[in-house]
Amino acid sequence: MVTAEMALEIEDLHAEVDGNPILNGVNFKVPAGEVHALMGPNGSGKSTLANVLLGNPAYVVSAGKVRFQGEDITHLSPGDRAARGLFLGFQHPEEIPGVSVFSFLRQAMAIRKGIDNFSVLEVRLKIMEWTKRLGMDNRFTERYLNEGFSGGERKRNEILQMALLEPDFAILDETDSGLDIDALKAVGDGIAEVRKERPDLGILVITHYQRMLDYLAPDVVHVLVDGQVVRSGGPELAQQVEIDGFDAFRNSAASTT
Ligand code: ADP
Ligand code: MG
Repeated sequence: MVTAEMALEIEDLHAEVDGNPILNGVNFKVPAGEVHALMGPNGSGKSTLANVLLGNPAYVVSAGKVRFQGEDITHLSPGDRAARGLFLGFQHPEEIPGVSVFSFLRQAMAIRKGIDNFSVLEVRLKIMEWTKRLGMDNRFTERYLNEGFSGGERKRNEILQMALLEPDFAILDETDSGLDIDALKAVGDGIAEVRKERPDLGILVITHYQRMLDYLAPDVVHVLVDGQVVRSGGPELAQQVEIDGFDAFRNSAASTT
């Protein structure tokens, strides 16, 4: 059997914020093209892991390693990671007054491609194609980034970014949070649309709920409690979480330490 190429490898990862240990030895691997779900209660360290994977300097890696496509990226800058094809959809996308969605996308696409500039026309055409495929109104690209955007618009905009930046691996941090059923479906369909175009795209989807996973059909589910993966399994694990809650897993965390 040929081992699938590993897109993302997380090895014994420890991380701290303001001197407080948050991640206490996280281990898992995601092969190219697979969807893995990361579930866990509030405060378990899910967003911390997302930030560490993207190299946010507020989060200090105290031990362990992150490999992306075989390369140790533990100490690379966020820009270098993005240029290599790692993408993060934020739990709380920030407002950037004065920067339009269009100019943001144009710049981000240029960084990803390692070129100085994308032609305005080329960017417009690509945006038109993807807003159409994602069922979005493309006029919103003239607005300032996330300013006055509804929850659904912010999250769809993250998916638009994912589509245009053509990443090899995407980390989606609670892309489903704060969405009503219709917006959730739109986002779920949008992710499916991007996967259709990029079958080798690996995705780590961070979520509280099973409902997002109805759209994404994860290959593997990991449960994070107190900064450690306490259980990994198939999609049925997400259903078990839904039925039993995270407390059942808290106990198994205690018994392994
Ligand atoms: P989750 O996403 O699973 O809800 P987080 O990773 O956001 O959890 O938070 C895990 C813990 O780390 C929490 O106790 C939180 O208060 C702390 N934490 C996360 N980010 C920061 C930060 N930037 N500054 C201080 N504490 C943080
Ligand atoms: Mg979070």
